[in-house]
Amino acid sequence: MELGIKGKRALVCASSKGLGLGCARALAAEGVDLIMNARGAEALEAAAAAIRAEFGVEVTAIACDVTTEDGQARLIEAAQGVDILVNNAGGPPPGMWTDWERDDFIAALDANMLAPIALIKALVPGMMERGWGRVVNITSVSVKSPIPVLGLSNAARAGLTGYVAGTARQVAGAGVTINNLLPGIHATDRAVALDTAVTQQQGITMEEAQAQRAATIPAGRYGTADEFGATCAFLCSHHAGFIVGQNVLLDGGAFASAS
Ligand code: NAP
Repeated sequence: MELGIKGKRALVCASSKGLGLGCARALAAEGVDLIMNARGAEALEAAAAAIRAEFGVEVTAIACDVTTEDGQARLIEAAQGVDILVNNAGGPPPGMWTDWERDDFIAALDANMLAPIALIKALVPGMMERGWGRVVNITSVSVKSPIPVLGLSNAARAGLTGYVAGTARQVAGAGVTINNLLPGIHATDRAVALDTAVTQQQGITMEEAQAQRAATIPAGRYGTADEFGATCAFLCSHHAGFIVGQNVLLDGGAFASAS
């Protein structure tokens, strides 16, 4: 299917690896020029160079921390006039509900709620003036089904989800859609970090930890960044203009619900 977004420009945050990279690659495959971001310059430059070589699109790489005001200012300056915004950042650490103090919550809110809101506030007005725009926020299955050890993530992502639910309906009339993509378990560095924590807590091997988690997924496997990116590209497509304020779950069926 031709997605109808060739020649558009996208800012894809936190995109040198994992799900963000999957989204960047899928948009580039459709002929979208990119602004890519991550903190580590080396992996970011390598990912940007690989995308330029494979897809022939323009890629600007900005190494900065999207959770900071300075990082957001740099991204906003570079992203003036973009048509597509994919919000993403690293996820908060796991722990027990008794572990976290105010500063831990502030850090999680900065990363997974306030950074996406700042970029939406800065870039959506231009999209509305031009009458077309797409915003996709990478959140988590935890929005629908809380993950007990990820209390910081559960809390921050719930806040963003509430904000998007109202805001998406305020901007839809100007041709701008805002939706959330909810990853379940995907084979990325983040999954390796969480599985490593399980090996330490339960005294099991990495293979056992992965098999244990895969057994909770009806599809019987972890998701891939490529299939996640393909869904992101569709939500950013010409065809997705009637999808507004939705929480699209990609979890291989792990969260059982009838609707
Ligand atoms: P990942 O494989 O660890 O990749 C994270 C990417 O984001 C890297 O490119 C990283 O590069 C960049 N990044 C992290 N913090 C950043 C920051 N403050 N500023 C700019 N870039 C930053 O993670 P992932 O699995 O793709 O996960 C992406 C998001 O989905 C996370 O919020 C995660 O919690 C959520 N999620 C993932 C899963 C899963 O199974 N993978 C499930 C549910 C939710 P640098 O480190 O160089 O900055």
